Amino acid sequence: MTRRIAIVGAGQSGLQTGIGLLQQGYQVTLHSNRTGEQIRAGRVMSSQCMFDRALQTERDLGLNFWERDCPPVEGIGVTVPNPDKAGEKLIDWAARLDRPAQSVDQRLKMPVWMDEFVRLGGELVIQDVGIDELEELAASHDLVLLAAGKGEIVRLFERDAERSQFDKPQRALALTYVRGMEPKQPHSRVAFNLIPGVGEYFAFPALTVNGPCEIMVFEGIPGGPMDCWQDVSTPEQHLARSLDILRTYAPWEAERCKHVELTDDNGILAGRFPPTVRKPVATLPSGRKILGIADALVVNDPITGQGSNNGAKCSRIYLDSILSRGDLPFDEAWMESTFETYWAYARDVVTWTNSMLLPPPDHILNLLGAAQHSPGLAATIANGFDNPPDNMPWWMDANACNHFVDEQLKKGA
Ligand SMILES: Cc1cc2nc3c(=O)[nH]c(=O)nc-3n(C[C@H](O)[C@H](O)[C@H](O)COP(=O)(O)OP(=O)(O)OC[C@H]3O[C@@H](n4cnc5c(N)ncnc54)[C@H](O)[C@@H]3O)c2cc1C
Repeated sequence: MTRRIAIVGAGQSGLQTGIGLLQQGYQVTLHSNRTGEQIRAGRVMSSQCMFDRALQTERDLGLNFWERDCPPVEGIGVTVPNPDKAGEKLIDWAARLDRPAQSVDQRLKMPVWMDEFVRLGGELVIQDVGIDELEELAASHDLVLLAAGKGEIVRLFERDAERSQFDKPQRALALTYVRGMEPKQPHSRVAFNLIPGVGEYFAFPALTVNGPCEIMVFEGIPGGPMDCWQDVSTPEQHLARSLDILRTYAPWEAERCKHVELTDDNGILAGRFPPTVRKPVATLPSGRKILGIADALVVNDPITGQGSNNGAKCSRIYLDSILSRGDLPFDEAWMESTFETYWAYARDVVTWTNSMLLPPPDHILNLLGAAQHSPGLAATIANGFDNPPDNMPWWMDANACNHFVDEQLKKGA
């Protein structure tokens, strides 16, 4: 008997899971509160840089439609300005990723994936789903997955106070999609600038609705000088504010931006949200259970660029768990254990990402500084973005981290 699965949310995790299930012969209904056209014509939502392992989950489903057109992100760079000497750098290094990362604007990607979902026989319903609709879906399907990202409806899942380190936003976020930025040499990269007491700025190449671009990401410490978007009301002002920040705090990045222009008036975003972990199962008034997936349950600050990567990897884990369930019911115990399989991976991503939101301890400053003298160390840090559990446990443990740094420096690699 064909199993019926309902998914709410047409983002990275909802569409990837829906398409994966269709390819395996499941009947899938996907509910989105926006049409593909509305998504494409709307605001940017993310900087969505995805690393190789996450990209592989898309390749495995034949969803890598932009692989050839999207400019590669070939490495990671870290710069820390010298707080005592304006315009000078304290730390500055870059390393290649073993395999490139890529960022395809979700405005471009999701509408095409929605078409692919329909082409494969999925039922796409445009509807803002609330509790009544969830009840109907839960009554008529074997499983309901809530893949609604940061949508209000995910509040149905109780916040997990033990697993959530913060209860307030830790950064004021902004995105600026531009064309005309000077490329980094000798290889493209996510160019991170960690500005003590101010926040972080990073930029990297991407593919947007009208071609290749660069995405600027601003992560301002709340109340600090980079938390400065409240009075910005036009796209032109948003770009001007972005460039002001660079001239003040990362002049070497401003140098790259002498000829930039916005990709389009919707290529800007400003907002904030608290990083949160939620409990995986919600009980509807009828007593029926639904399961959350990806950002609906584990939403990270974008500082380490992990959310879409998590969405893709979570989708793979859920897909495997659904397939191996065969004809058995998707009961609460199965839901809990499916999420815990994902959490076994995601908890290290959360720990690592949250650590970047606090002032860096001495061992991390030591690590980032030492990477200037050790290409091996720099490459380890860079490739940790592809699989953050590789950073554990040493990232969080001063002794282990210092020992690791010493070993790498001795190797001289
Ligand atoms: C500023 C910023 C920068 C980022 N940069 C990166 C990065 O560089 N790399 C990275 O990996 N991640 C990044 N992310 C995170 C990444 O975009 C998300 O983690 C990822 O999109 C989550 O996927 P998802 O499927 O869980 O949810 P989403 O992609 O958010 O999709 C949820 C969907 O559900 C829909 N929806 C919501 N409520 C309802 C409802 N009631 N009914 C129907 N539909 C509904 C929404 O419209 C949306 O389409 C960034 C995020 C931000 C905010």
